[in-house]
Amino acid sequence: MKSFDVVVIGGGPGGYVAAIRAAQLGMQVACIDEAKSAEGKPALGGTCTNVGCIPSKALLQSSENYEQAGHHFAEHGVQVKGLGLDLAQMLRRKDKVVKASNDGVLYLFRKNKVTFFHGRGSFGKSPSEILVGGESITAKNVIIATGSNPRALPGAEFDEKLILSNSGALAIPEVPRRLGVIGAGVIGLEMGSVWRRLGSDVTILEALPAFLGAADEQIAREAAKVFARQGLKIELGVKIAKVDKNKTVMVQYAASDGSSKTLECDRLIVSIGRSANTEGLNAEGVGLKLERGFIAVDGDCRSNLPGVWAIGDVVRGPMLAHKAEEEGVAVAERIAGQKPHVDFNTVPWVIYTTPEIAWVGKTEQQLKGEGLASGVDYRVGSAPFAANARARALGDTTGLVKILADAKTDIILGVHIIGPFAGELIAEAVVAMEFRGSAEDIGMICHAHPSLSEAMKDAALAVDKRALNS
Ligand SMILES: Cc1cc2nc3c(=O)[nH]c(=O)nc-3n(C[C@H](O)[C@H](O)[C@H](O)COP(=O)(O)OP(=O)(O)OC[C@H]3O[C@@H](n4cnc5c(N)ncnc54)[C@H](O)[C@@H]3O)c2cc1C
Repeated sequence: MKSFDVVVIGGGPGGYVAAIRAAQLGMQVACIDEAKSAEGKPALGGTCTNVGCIPSKALLQSSENYEQAGHHFAEHGVQVKGLGLDLAQMLRRKDKVVKASNDGVLYLFRKNKVTFFHGRGSFGKSPSEILVGGESITAKNVIIATGSNPRALPGAEFDEKLILSNSGALAIPEVPRRLGVIGAGVIGLEMGSVWRRLGSDVTILEALPAFLGAADEQIAREAAKVFARQGLKIELGVKIAKVDKNKTVMVQYAASDGSSKTLECDRLIVSIGRSANTEGLNAEGVGLKLERGFIAVDGDCRSNLPGVWAIGDVVRGPMLAHKAEEEGVAVAERIAGQKPHVDFNTVPWVIYTTPEIAWVGKTEQQLKGEGLASGVDYRVGSAPFAANARARALGDTTGLVKILADAKTDIILGVHIIGPFAGELIAEAVVAMEFRGSAEDIGMICHAHPSLSEAMKDAALAVDKRALNS
């Protein structure tokens, strides 16, 4: 029987990174993943690589290029004649980007001497026995990184033709004339943006009364305005009553004012959240504890079973690829006897719409709430991209950078950005917060001119009411 120091079940961003880090630390490591490409080959990289982060960003980029060429090039004096959309090529390119990422993980496994099993892994008779493809292997430590699955709306199961999960939403073969989206979260907004840019009339229905409730309210308000200008129709506070499909999809719902409405669309994307995936693991057989469907873990990702750990989407916390990766590295290092730490407060969030939205740390509404209880007093500094020379040169002056700092110590508590390349700019804020930096620290650092990062510096200076450009 083959035996390993660590067996990782799931080869997504949490699992494959955990496997590589454990191998770097000198352990004998195996990783098991069941995902297959259309040709039946291993498709390592998980939801993120196959039907999540990577293909969505590929389509966001392609559709943005189309939108730019159609609507914004002329302003730069670039004339485009006979602009056309080759959707099949756009989807092929996306598939190529995915495949390159799949193959990249396989290459990294070979390089780091991680043994790969292609198939479904499950617990055998004990937590240290893992069954895969008719084989039984033993593990001193097991890391479960089995990710999540899209949640379906009751009565509207995914058929991936008319009613689409994220998988179907990334592979629609022709641009739907009318696209419905249920759920105005990150996935709904990103997918809605892709298909709107390609020509769909997009309506997004959201149950919550507030738009982007997890974001800073000021940023969410700004985002709602910009998306409305772009033509994304977003209805908040709706209650879905019924979804029927024939040749089209009919969504009956109660609007926020209580009136009954029907949305008819050619395709419907349902993006109402994701559920932890523990299917087929034989969790109950070995007594692995679950909590609301997630594998129950402590702050260090230890499950209730000795030597069994769980990371990423299958455990509590934000469902983000980089959070899964951080947990994967930390668990590998803990197994090796080190004492790593993952700080959830400095996990950045990015929504890759245009404009991009990114944040880290506390929102202003959180600080207001906490202020009452714990006396957190804060100061705010913001800088609009309209006052930034690089943004003007780019032709994209939407949005702002907003910094929240402790009123007494000036330590940065949260940074919120909506605007061009927000997803890249947020990295500076994460670094500053990891080093417990103050707004003054950012204000004193030399930022290149002209660069979008100068808006970060100006927002930091604005905390002390001494912004130079706004
Ligand atoms: C459309 C979309 C866009 C997204 N965009 C972003 C983004 O831009 N940024 C971001 O940070 N996050 C994004 N996410 C979220 C991100 O994809 C997840 O947070 C991330 O993939 C979680 O990683 P994981 O390793 O926990 O699990 P997963 O990536 O889900 O990987 C789990 C793997 O385990 C395999 N598996 C499951 N059970 C078994 C078993 N029993 N045996 C063998 N293999 C098994 C699965 O096949 C899968 O390959 C997006 C998600 C979606 C759906």
